[in-house]
Amino acid sequence: MSILVLNAGSSTLKFGLFEPGAREPQVAGNVDWDGPAQSAELIVRSLGEPERRQPCEATDHRSAASLVIKALSEPGRGSSPIRAVGHRIVHGGQAFVESVLVTPDVAKAIASLSDLAPLHNPQAVAVLETATASLPGLPHVAVFDTSFFAGLPRSSAVFPVPFEWYKERGIRRFGFHGISHSYCAGRAAEVLGRTPEGLRLVICHLGNGCSAAAVRDGRAVDTTMGYTPLDGLMMGTRAGAVDPGILLHLQQREGFTAQELDHALNHQSGLLGVSGVSSDFRKVEAASLEGNDRARLALEIYAARIRSAIGALSATLGGLDALVFTAGVGENSARLRTSVCEGLRFLGIELDPQLNAEARPDADIAQPGASIRVLILHTREELMIARETGRLALKQNA
Ligand code: AMP
Repeated sequence: MSILVLNAGSSTLKFGLFEPGAREPQVAGNVDWDGPAQSAELIVRSLGEPERRQPCEATDHRSAASLVIKALSEPGRGSSPIRAVGHRIVHGGQAFVESVLVTPDVAKAIASLSDLAPLHNPQAVAVLETATASLPGLPHVAVFDTSFFAGLPRSSAVFPVPFEWYKERGIRRFGFHGISHSYCAGRAAEVLGRTPEGLRLVICHLGNGCSAAAVRDGRAVDTTMGYTPLDGLMMGTRAGAVDPGILLHLQQREGFTAQELDHALNHQSGLLGVSGVSSDFRKVEAASLEGNDRARLALEIYAARIRSAIGALSATLGGLDALVFTAGVGENSARLRTSVCEGLRFLGIELDPQLNAEARPDADIAQPGASIRVLILHTREELMIARETGRLALKQNA
C-alpha cells in the first residue's frame, strides 16, 4: 500500500508518496503559490526521473490539496494506489500527545487549536478537510510536531511564572519540530551503531525555523522552543528568546500595540531584522563575505545563540555523546558549523575540517579520536509521518 503524506507550509503544500518500507518517496513534490498572481507551480519528482514543473491553478491550501490528490490518483502513474494519508500538524496542544487516526471529532479538536498556531494549524486543517472529502474511506492520520515533547520533565515544561498560568491556562513549553527531532534521534543511533538507550544527544534543527533539543534514551528532555515556535534560537525572521521586559517597555512607554510586537517578533526579526539583507541564510552569508557588517553581526549572534543552547542542553543531559546538525542550514553550511563548534572545544567537540567541508549527510564529521561525535543528518519529516501513518493504519486494519 502506498502512503500519501501532506505537509502544509505557509503558502506551499509539500507531498510525498511512500511505498511500504521505502526510505525515499516514489513521488514527491510541492505546490507553491507564494509569488505573483497566476504564477503557482506544481513541482513533481518521481524516483529516477527528472523533476517536472508545470503552472497550476492553486491559490490556497484547499485548491493545492485537490490538485495534488488529482495528480496522484491519475491512472498509469506507476505506483500502487493510495491506502492511507498522513498529515503534518504543527500544534497538538495538551490534547494530542501522540499520532492519531482522524475522526470528525479529532478534526474539530485540531481546528480548535488554531489560536495556538495561527500560522500553521488553519492551513493543515484546510488540507485535512479537503483530503478527507476527496479520499473518504481511507485512514487519515494526524502526526504532531509537539508530540515528541509531550513527556518533557516538569522542570523543562513549566515556566517560572504564576503557577495558575500553567494549571488554569495551559501555559507550558510545548516544543516544536518534534517530527524532525524524533527522526534525527532514531537516525543518530543508527549512524552511531548504538541503541537509543543510554545515548545523550543535542539536536540542532536549523532551517527557516530553528530549535535545539536535548534527547536522552530516545526521549526529549528539553528544547529551546516554548509555548509558541517563537522562543529559543534566532531564526530567519523570528527573534527567538528576548528579554520579555523589552516588550513590556515598548508597550507601556512607546505605545506599541500587541499586533505590532507580534509582527516585529515573528516577521521582522532574526537574520532579516539584524542584517537588513534577508531571512535566507545563504544571502546573509554572501553579504557577510562581501563585507556587510550587519550581516556579519547577524551570523555572529545566530552562532552564539546555538552555541549557548548546546552548552545549556548538554548540562541538562549531564554530558553529551553526539551533536546533530540538520535542516537547510545545519545540513549545508560548513561555515556555520565551524563557527558554532570552535567555541565548544572545551566540551570535547572537535570537527574534522575536511569532513566538515566535504561530507554530505548522513555523516559523522568529528575528528576520529574526539570524545563527542558530530553528525550531519538529512531530516526526513515526510518519511517519519509515513511511518506513523503506516503504523496506525495497520492497527486499524488488524
Ligand atoms: P529549511 O527550512 O530546512 O528548508 O531551510 C531553509 C534555510 O536553509 C534557508 O535559510 C536557506 O538559506 C538555508 N540553506 C539552504 N541551503 C543552504 C546552503 N547550501 N548553505 C547555507 N544555507 C542553506
